[in-house]
Amino acid sequence: QDDPIPTLTMRDGKEVPVLGQGTWNMGEKASEAKREIESLRAGLDLGMTLIDTAEMYAEGGAETIVGEAIRGRRDEVYLVSKVYPWNASRKGTIEACENSLSRMGTDRIELYLLHWRGSHPLAETVEAFETLKAQGKIGQWGVSNFDTDDMEELLSVPAGNNVAANQVLYNLGRRGIEFDLLPWCQERNIPVMAYSPIEQGRIIHHPEIIRIAKANQATPAQLALAFLLERDGVIAIPKTSNAARVTENRDAVSLDLSDEDLAALDAAFPPPSRKKPLEML
Ligand code: NDP
Repeated sequence: QDDPIPTLTMRDGKEVPVLGQGTWNMGEKASEAKREIESLRAGLDLGMTLIDTAEMYAEGGAETIVGEAIRGRRDEVYLVSKVYPWNASRKGTIEACENSLSRMGTDRIELYLLHWRGSHPLAETVEAFETLKAQGKIGQWGVSNFDTDDMEELLSVPAGNNVAANQVLYNLGRRGIEFDLLPWCQERNIPVMAYSPIEQGRIIHHPEIIRIAKANQATPAQLALAFLLERDGVIAIPKTSNAARVTENRDAVSLDLSDEDLAALDAAFPPPSRKKPLEML
């Protein structure tokens, strides 16, 4: 129960827990705000101190919730937020970041991501990210929804090799990145943040997941998370607005999967045998 959450060292030397908290769908309804804030705080209490958000979520509403949740405990938290692709110009990126900072009531974002590729040249977005870094408004920057060819292109622009993370869809039912993107990132020490790690709740109904979870006295969500936590350089960011589920998800770190369990998961959710384009939600 009390196993510490394993950590990973980011490229700037900061240690982060490999199990963090997502916030998509938070901040949509005022009547839910209290529960959302409480569940994020419960996660912080349990060591899930990496919080992932974005200007997109509830059009700023999620960042406002995050701001409430971290009030008075800012220094415990490793904050991740994202810029919309259409804001990711040289000037627009700076403005978007400043707006995110003010919604969250803070003066810095530890990791700031380009949410997905848009029409602004990567070189301009990277230039803006580097400016924000120099100004101390962000610690590091990264990307999201970038496939291997996008990453290669990113490395070819000035300062592109400062990329500190790539956040992509990754769970048992979406294993495409294991063919090339995941090893590519692992070789370069670029952490992969696995989003929708329990497939937005859908995967917990899969009979094989239910069976293997039961055999381990674990829940299906814990099994889905444990599968990701087995991997080097992967950070999973499940979202829940339910404090009991926060505890459940946190306890996934205590689930050690046997070779037999992993083989059964491979049979039910085969790893890719060839390149598949990166999927997105
Ligand atoms: P998740 O896979 O984290 O699933 C979240 C859903 O599962 C919610 O409906 C939640 O409901 C439910 N849930 C959570 N824990 C449990 C549990 N233990 N048992 C049963 N149900 C559970 O999906 P997300 O898409 O939210 O992904 C996680 C985070 O990743 C996002 O919140 C966001 O921060 C990020 N993300 C990034 C994207 C990108 O493009 N970069 C795209 C998608 C997500 P409830 O809250 O009611 O518990």
